[in-house]
Amino acid sequence: MNNRMELNFLACPQNESFARVAVAAFAVQLSPTLPEMADIKTAVSEAVTNAIIHGYRGWTPEKGGMVYLKAEYDQRHVLTVSIRDEGCGILDVKQAMQPFYSTGEGSERSGMGFCVMQTFMDAVEVDSAPGRGTTVTMRKYILGEIGLRQERILDEIG
Ligand code: ATP
Ligand code: MG
Repeated sequence: MNNRMELNFLACPQNESFARVAVAAFAVQLSPTLPEMADIKTAVSEAVTNAIIHGYRGWTPEKGGMVYLKAEYDQRHVLTVSIRDEGCGILDVKQAMQPFYSTGEGSERSGMGFCVMQTFMDAVEVDSAPGRGTTVTMRKYILGEIGLRQERILDEIG
């Protein structure tokens, strides 16, 4: 079947784990394997963290920057998660997606967030412009426990 959900939340660090767990609870309907679930949670965590710390850098909670998250899946078991902010946006998306590129201050950021998303999901698209905010759309095919079992059986007899 097809299913979808939307979630809007304040861009504060406390909501990163909330968003990650909410997407996991939604995705569980596809019966993902534990590694698939871990991949989804990690990718969501990276994108939401970016929206909060880069998109709304310098904002105060009183200013009320929001993160807009949508998740959906279809009968092909493709999960799509999009995470949008209305923050500062990215001047050069290609450059921002390079490994080790970071505008973060200090040693806390390694510049690997986009690489992590690309590694753990099947497709990552970034739509951004300065002053207009950023939307990250990620897709992943979920094989799931049943699919994995079927694959193993086919391997054994094939
Ligand atoms: P890490 O994720 O490893 O802690 P990082 O966040 O700097 O470090 P990436 O997640 O790969 O690395 O992001 C690279 C750069 O892209 C960021 O340093 C920032 O300049 C820019 N960026 C990413 N997401 C956003 C966003 N939502 N809004 C504005 N800039 C962003
Ligand atoms: Mg990051």
